[in-house]
Amino acid sequence: MSEIKTHYRNCNICEAMCGLEIKYQDKEILSIKGDQKDPFSKGYNCPKATALQDFYTDKDRLKTPIRRTATGWEDISWDEAFAEITEKFKSIQHEHGKNALAAYLGNPNAHNVGNSIFLKPFLKSLGTINRFSSASADQMPHHVASNFMFGAGMLIPVPDIDRTDFMLIIGGNPVVSNGSMMTAPNVIGRMKAIQKRGGKIVVVDPRRTRTAKIADQHLFIRPEKDALLLFAMVHCVFATNSVNLRHLANMVDGLDGLENIAKDYSPESVAAHVGIAANDIRTLADEMISADSAVCYSRMGASTQTFGGLCQWLTNALNILTGNFDRAGGAMFPQPAFDLLRNHKRGHKSSFGQHETRVRKLPFFNGEFPVATLAEEIQTAGEGQIRSLITVAGNPVLSSPSGHKLAEAFKGLDYMVSVDIYLNETTKYANIILPGTTGVENAQFDIFFNSFSVRNTVKYSAPLFEKEDYQRSDWQILNELSARMTDAPVDSPMHKITPEIILDMELKKSAYGEQGMSLQKLIDNPHGIDIGPLMPCIEERIKTAAGKVNLLPQLYVDDLPRLNAVMVQPARDENYPFDLIGRRLVKSHNTWTQNSDRLVKGRNPCTLEVHPEDAKVLGITKGQLVTVSSMVGAVHIEVVITDDIQQGIVSMPQGWGHNQKGTKMSVAATQPGVSINDLTDANRVDTLTGNAAFNGTPVAIKVA
Ligand code: SF4
Repeated sequence: MSEIKTHYRNCNICEAMCGLEIKYQDKEILSIKGDQKDPFSKGYNCPKATALQDFYTDKDRLKTPIRRTATGWEDISWDEAFAEITEKFKSIQHEHGKNALAAYLGNPNAHNVGNSIFLKPFLKSLGTINRFSSASADQMPHHVASNFMFGAGMLIPVPDIDRTDFMLIIGGNPVVSNGSMMTAPNVIGRMKAIQKRGGKIVVVDPRRTRTAKIADQHLFIRPEKDALLLFAMVHCVFATNSVNLRHLANMVDGLDGLENIAKDYSPESVAAHVGIAANDIRTLADEMISADSAVCYSRMGASTQTFGGLCQWLTNALNILTGNFDRAGGAMFPQPAFDLLRNHKRGHKSSFGQHETRVRKLPFFNGEFPVATLAEEIQTAGEGQIRSLITVAGNPVLSSPSGHKLAEAFKGLDYMVSVDIYLNETTKYANIILPGTTGVENAQFDIFFNSFSVRNTVKYSAPLFEKEDYQRSDWQILNELSARMTDAPVDSPMHKITPEIILDMELKKSAYGEQGMSLQKLIDNPHGIDIGPLMPCIEERIKTAAGKVNLLPQLYVDDLPRLNAVMVQPARDENYPFDLIGRRLVKSHNTWTQNSDRLVKGRNPCTLEVHPEDAKVLGITKGQLVTVSSMVGAVHIEVVITDDIQQGIVSMPQGWGHNQKGTKMSVAATQPGVSINDLTDANRVDTLTGNAAFNGTPVAIKVA
């Protein structure tokens, strides 16, 4: 046995970038805890971090390629796998056109530095426009708003939570998620600090979430009515002559137009639909206006719904109008050391709407189509039909709307490949599975999450354990496929380049390069480097052609008739009297953490929350099994009765349903739960952005 050593790295499970201290001996992890010297997370970690070792030691995990045969799965060599895949992809594209091949990218790609860097050239090598990802399942409205208001989809304003005096959280549960589109380890600590310095936190949510319980005030809202609430608040800012653009006074276009439109959304006109009294809406607006600093943060509930696009536009507008944008304590742009916008010129032409899906005519944006359309694009015959697919680190059968229908579509593909470490509900349909490596075998550098971070920090973590010779990292798999798809010569740079080469180059070319930022500097500082708090930087960062914020992009104006129709109160389908909403759990992250015993053991977490009055009417009791059905499917699930949820609304967690035949996730199978996405409907989308509308799915409930 060799000596016990210590390794420092960032956790790569969620967005929070917590620094970890890992004690290990040889290739065994002895302990994982928060790194006290990490300048950002300061010793904080959530219970998921310790599962990093489980993913590494998981007996179900694949390490070399397997191929599906008529009699089961067989092992094949890497070379054989790469040769077959490229031969099949090329032949399908030769016969049916480039777009007959599609790619789907899952959320773990954003947590893997190699994939974050090399997916772009990989997708280019495939030559198809049929690209899909989990981004259109949860965050496209943020990117669309940034694109049209600030000139770049990746220029995301984040709440300056560490300095704000008033924080309004709409549809977000950061205490559980540790921030989402807001990288903020230890959100509880950061929220308590707001209260300690005399500030206030208000949560607006259809559920009394854990975040709501810590907040100073919680207001219930009806699902999918957040845009109306935000509009009414914007109305109040104008109606009370409280617009205060501060230093942005000469940088904002569209002010008069927005004022004119907002006249139609008084608190009184929306209150009944929103489920919040007009006076409470006015008070919320007043608090945003009068606080020394304030920020509105709206997230999952406000994004993954049929008006997600409008919600994110109005959230930005509210922060701007109340003088809380690009200012300490408001919504601010991070200045990351690896700047994804380094080469993004002002006035750069956006890809929004450059193409549209064949069947439903939904927009292409950020290099992809909405995942809610993937099944129909596979199943609808005609020019451009998808016949072949590669999935990379994703399980859309569980994470996308109408997941079971997507599974049906996968069965009809001519050829499918998955890059994944598990034989799961999606990869079981692949002809070949190519497994990469897990977190502790990879280097870690958070390219994306530094761009959403509430403080500017930077950190590189080397791999803790070297992979075995017979393994490939995910990025090596992608680069090998890229090289073979483009017939790159063996001495091509594609075979030599590494994430570290790109990282070093980007760090040196960044705004911090002149101060000596480099990969070596990060290697010399294993706890990470604090660059400092978010700073006003809109004049340098904005990417619109005129260098101004567009407060009133036309596509939002064009979307208003859809919102106005809601106020006419459409008749409810009596067959589906409840609204289903999702919920996040501390011990799970999407679909990919459920094969860790320590994260799934104990009480069944996959339950349906029902209000006591609804339970009484339905005649159901705690722990009873009920059937929940929607327009597209049905599941059986155990009931929890709680007044944390409003009457008429029910909630179940996302990321479950690991119980399908033909998969090999033995721990997950002990606590499989059911998939919320057997109920959500791929036909329900925010038509403006194409994002899936998970929240507000109409459902019926009866005793099973
Ligand atoms: S909050 Fe996220 S990054 Fe931090 S330890 Fe938990 S899973 Fe890891």
